[in-house]
Amino acid sequence: MLAKRAGQIDSSGIRKVFDLGQKLKNPINLSIGQPDFDLPPELKNEAKKWIDAGFSGYTVTQGTQELRDKIREKYRKQGIEFEEIMITCGVSGGLVLAAMVLFEQGDEVLIPDPYFVMYKHLVTLMGATPVYIDTYPHFRLNAEQLRGRVTSRTKALMLNSPANPTGISLTEAEQKEIADFAARHDLLVIFDEIYESFNYDHPHANIARFYPNTLILHGFSKSHAMTGWRLGFAAGPREIVNEMIKIQQYSFVCAPSIAQKMGVAALDLPPTKYTASYRRKRDIVYEGLKERFNVVKPNGAFYIFPEAPGRDGDEFAKKAIENNVLVIPGSVFSEKKTHFRISFAADDDVLRKGVEILNSLA
Ligand code: PMP
Repeated sequence: MLAKRAGQIDSSGIRKVFDLGQKLKNPINLSIGQPDFDLPPELKNEAKKWIDAGFSGYTVTQGTQELRDKIREKYRKQGIEFEEIMITCGVSGGLVLAAMVLFEQGDEVLIPDPYFVMYKHLVTLMGATPVYIDTYPHFRLNAEQLRGRVTSRTKALMLNSPANPTGISLTEAEQKEIADFAARHDLLVIFDEIYESFNYDHPHANIARFYPNTLILHGFSKSHAMTGWRLGFAAGPREIVNEMIKIQQYSFVCAPSIAQKMGVAALDLPPTKYTASYRRKRDIVYEGLKERFNVVKPNGAFYIFPEAPGRDGDEFAKKAIENNVLVIPGSVFSEKKTHFRISFAADDDVLRKGVEILNSLA
């Protein structure tokens, strides 16, 4: 009855943790991949305004011209000019479309490990082969690690900075080195910069500035606490984005109309309003864990990825959940199971409490 491709992917381990967590009465939840701040009031008002105005129809498939222009302007200020821009249903929507138009059986796709969980499954779903680049223990990517991993079948490199689940943000120099490598091997770089506004120690770097063969995937879920509004965008080579628009027409049709209006308003808000408080959360968790855990200090996103005691992240996550702290086993994001992921997008007191319990278990 079912197509084989459905059986090829395992349901996300994150869901399993959610299901386990549902059974807990008042868990300390350090598993959530969304900001703990509310939708900014300006965006609530914008949504109300356009609901009242009846802006409820389909928009054009590629997204409203005003939002696409606004995004073009955002990148122009960074010195980046894209051939084409489209609006997607979150970065997830952009990832699905990109995978559909780019990957097929026989293709190899370079994926730094640990990785955002969708990358692996989408590549597999399209019948292509993920080629994992082990970035343990520091979780940074350089040309040396990529050397020898490219074949005549390699099509693209998936890059995510700042990264989920490690919290590592690559510097401009690191991205330049990766860009030079990609140029030598004529690789497409798919750059997921959804955590752009969560950089704590250096400015955000964007590989598209040095490498035009880059497809950017970005969105409003994390920067503006808009996860449920499903708004993202893709920008890059015209040939690729135009094909993605074609597939969107026969799948998602368009991103939600009200959300597109909110996106225009969102781009006028200061992007870094929450940086200081998230830097503080990063410090609470990192300083709290570093004595008992082998852990790399994150410099972006809102995740930290410590090594589990006994190097068994599955076992440790289970133990943490039994002790009322929800964390995600690293095996969800990696071919290894030695680590676990903590999200620090939570109230400071919740973080302190969680850290205390995790230390007592270590
Ligand atoms: N990319 C990364 C790295 C993410 O962490 C997430 C959300 N967890 C997404 C993409 C998808 O985000 P959305 O579809 O809400 O834009």
